[in-house]
Amino acid sequence: MKLSRILSNRNGVSRKQANALIASGRVRVNDRVCRTPAQEVDRFSTVRLDGEIIQAGEAERYLMLNKPAGYLSATVDDIHQTVLELIAPELRWHLHIAGRLDRSSTGLLILTSNGHWSRKLTEPVVKIPKVYRVTTAHPISPETEAQFAQGIWFEFEGLTTSPAQIELMGEREARVTIYEGRYHQIKRMFHAVGNRVTTLHRERMGGIALDDNLPPGDYRSLTREEIDSVQ
Ligand code: URA
Repeated sequence: MKLSRILSNRNGVSRKQANALIASGRVRVNDRVCRTPAQEVDRFSTVRLDGEIIQAGEAERYLMLNKPAGYLSATVDDIHQTVLELIAPELRWHLHIAGRLDRSSTGLLILTSNGHWSRKLTEPVVKIPKVYRVTTAHPISPETEAQFAQGIWFEFEGLTTSPAQIELMGEREARVTIYEGRYHQIKRMFHAVGNRVTTLHRERMGGIALDDNLPPGDYRSLTREEIDSVQ
């Protein structure tokens, strides 16, 4: 909303008076004088007139959810239950998902109201490591490590995936680190090397690790440190 509108709506002054107040330097947005009546101001910003709060900025929300299998990474769906239904109604509004998981996948899912922050976490150019625990239908062949490191050709997008790391945990179990988040990326990478993913669990995105104390379906707010780890 424009700054002049916030002032006139909430302070009982005309638009013209609001413009004059703003131009005179008596209005601050997030502690900075703003002299531009047409300035767009979001709901997270605090607006003050002569030090008195006209709009108290809302706090952004940052949540980590331990996603159970069977929930869709979407905010609404006609058929399936969505991850948003696991969040208390009073926290849901304006939340979006920072890096989806397939319906069958489990583990760390981040939801936030801050689109600027979530882009830094998910944009492929930023190359934030995403760590997954994977089990497969067939034994993982020794060549997989080199194949993933070289990158896998994705015909549909016409690109080769960024080098990924795989750490074997058992015959059919591994920890895989990727730096992008393409559609069904890990399932397609294993498919390309003649294997099939049976379970997929996200453990970490950059500096944010799934909290061991969160049972499937539960969530908590991110700590300041976790939020600030995304630069
Ligand atoms: N890769 C996949 O194939 N599925 C996910 O849910 C996440 C990464």
